[in-house]
Amino acid sequence: MQLEQAAPQDILRWAADTYGDGLALVTSFQPTGLVMLHMLLDIAPEISVLTLDTGLLFPETYALVEQWERQFNLTVTRVRAAQTVAQQAETYGDALWQRNPDQCCHLRKTVPLGDTLRGYAAWITGIRRDQAETRRGSAVVSWDSKYDNVKLAPLATWTEEMVWTYIRAYDLPYNPLHDQNYLSIGCQPCTRAVRPGEDARAGRWSGQAKIECGIHLPLEKKA
Ligand code: SF4
Repeated sequence: MQLEQAAPQDILRWAADTYGDGLALVTSFQPTGLVMLHMLLDIAPEISVLTLDTGLLFPETYALVEQWERQFNLTVTRVRAAQTVAQQAETYGDALWQRNPDQCCHLRKTVPLGDTLRGYAAWITGIRRDQAETRRGSAVVSWDSKYDNVKLAPLATWTEEMVWTYIRAYDLPYNPLHDQNYLSIGCQPCTRAVRPGEDARAGRWSGQAKIECGIHLPLEKKA
């Protein structure tokens, strides 16, 4: 099958048939992830659903995860860092995200997700090419050398408008912060609402050079 041109449902069906129990959906319960999760309820209702719980998410995000679990009878696995936020503060000092967000994301996102994902043959992510310059070249299917498995982005070619059309058509629960101009939602200390005309991810790590948490960045080459 030509996955690049295939409909997302066909890509998800192919992935479920190919990888079975070795397939996981990783979602932060943002719009694209919600669309795929809804599609998977029919295609692969037993799929592992993973979400990163950094301990620093918005209350609205925690509530949304619980709402999906109740409404769709799901079990969502929370992937957490080895240290709680308080333990991290004892080791690295308060508010590491202000002083060294790369290290904070590494400890709270990249490492715990990697530890979990290495147990899967393939994983599904909600990244789209129209989300940011760093994501323009995202492949629908690729080898993820960071986690040594296959990475699938079935909605890579979709637009923001297509995603919201789907969410409204099926009346899916979504994060109410999106209605307050939070177009991309991550941890509370590192997310703000965007201003008119700004890129969807402009509200992430605002005022810092950082634009990605590291999960979707390639491995750094050793000198
Ligand atoms: S998004 Fe901010 S608070 Fe969350 S893990 Fe990254 S640096 Fe830390």
